[in-house]
Amino acid sequence: MSTAIAIGVMLATLGRPLTASNAPHVRPLSLRAANAIMLLDRRSPTFSRLLARLQTSDLIVHLVEQQAGCDRVVKSCLIILGRSGGYRYVRVLIQSMQPYEALLQQIAHELRHAVDIAGNAKVIDARTSVAMCNQVGWGTAEHCETRSAQDVSRQVLAEVAASGATPRRARRHK
Ligand SMILES: [Zn+2]
Repeated sequence: MSTAIAIGVMLATLGRPLTASNAPHVRPLSLRAANAIMLLDRRSPTFSRLLARLQTSDLIVHLVEQQAGCDRVVKSCLIILGRSGGYRYVRVLIQSMQPYEALLQQIAHELRHAVDIAGNAKVIDARTSVAMCNQVGWGTAEHCETRSAQDVSRQVLAEVAASGATPRRARRHK
């Protein structure tokens, strides 16, 4: 956990002191995810806008790669943990050991879901997130999907590819 916090701090303090107001709201808990976020931020203006929107919100997003993913079918998902100290906490789970391009796509996709939540203060738990889903997307009590999340992940990958930053090996998965 201390390593994970150090990664988050590292992302926040490039060239400026860390304060409560500029601590990163998107906090990757693995070096691979941290590197992926830095690449996306450098290469995709659309992704940078997602980060900027979350940075001005009350949402804190921990991004966790884990072997199991979310369940047998879903390889990435977002879970609402609750409220504390004036912030709402969500966790993005992403299955580990996937191709790099899949990781990039899923981070962008899930952070777009986070932006929807950031824009709706009523969403504080699973029940209220289902209510929001009924307004902005479709799905079940377990899984909500939105057009905006589907579109943004495609857009971000296209921008990364256009910038020439996609690893050659990952391009085959497009
Ligand atoms: Zn989704």
